[in-house]
Amino acid sequence: MKEPETVERIEPGGVTPTEAFSILGNETRISILQALWEGAEPMSFSDLRAAVGVDKGNFNYHLGELSHFVRRCEEGYELRETGTQVMRAVVAGTITEDPELGPVEAGRPCPFCGSPIELLYRDEHITVRCRDCAGVLGGDLPDGAFMHYAFPPAGLADRSLPEVVEAAHVLFEAHVAMMLQGVCPACTARTGTEVLVCEDHAIGPDGLCERCESVPEIWATFTCRNCRYERRAVLWLVAVYHPATITALSERWEFDTFLELQRLLWSNPEYIASVSERVVSTDPLRLRVEFPTESGPLSIQYDEQLRVLGVER
Ligand SMILES: [Zn+2]
Ligand SMILES: [Zn+2]
Ligand SMILES: [Zn+2]
Repeated sequence: MKEPETVERIEPGGVTPTEAFSILGNETRISILQALWEGAEPMSFSDLRAAVGVDKGNFNYHLGELSHFVRRCEEGYELRETGTQVMRAVVAGTITEDPELGPVEAGRPCPFCGSPIELLYRDEHITVRCRDCAGVLGGDLPDGAFMHYAFPPAGLADRSLPEVVEAAHVLFEAHVAMMLQGVCPACTARTGTEVLVCEDHAIGPDGLCERCESVPEIWATFTCRNCRYERRAVLWLVAVYHPATITALSERWEFDTFLELQRLLWSNPEYIASVSERVVSTDPLRLRVEFPTESGPLSIQYDEQLRVLGVER
């Protein structure tokens, strides 16, 4: 049988990023894309020109420059997929200029210090943090962070701040699910999985490890070699995809869907703090995640590629 063909790297069809930016760096051209986007249907030459409102010579020239983003069709002109993507990026980024929301209280206490957990939105990032302790993440993140995640302003519309946090969790988990299967959420290229273990992990007086600036000792990292999109996730988040975990946790909580289970876990930081993630051996690397349950712990072992090696109950 013939090996399936693979392509090392896809070059965007004949236009370099520099050229693409230079093509789009013009108000008339953006207006043309916008008119086609808002029109939703193909537009005739005269309708499109009327919508953009510039003289014919100018219009012809700029329309001609957009061949990578706009195509001719029977009814006139329409956006190519690349043009649609440009407009999607524009729409995702602009609801209001640099909106800020919160902080508001999340309505549940910090599992480490008991202070209220708060939610806020700044610089297109959603943050869940403890007001008084170090939380689980340090470095250049906001103090006390439990979660800090990029979220486009478009997602703020019609949602309260707690609903924004929920949506950000859904987005995060969907991205992790894709990357666990080797698919980049940003560009669809193949992603790699690597497990990072902090050597000499020790929680210091401020509540975080000084070396890795986090509470978890083990992080699963997923990286796209094409667009450099990167995500990291704690191990329990990976282990919750195992059917044994779903069965074990169904004794503790009632849920009808996997999404509901994920939500229950996020909103119970005290339970999450009781889940243990350990290095069993370093050479070869073997990891164990243990969920406490009413009828004893459920433990799942992983290798360095996050392949399941065994399940014990
Ligand atoms: Zn705290
Ligand atoms: Zn550490
Ligand atoms: Zn990618």
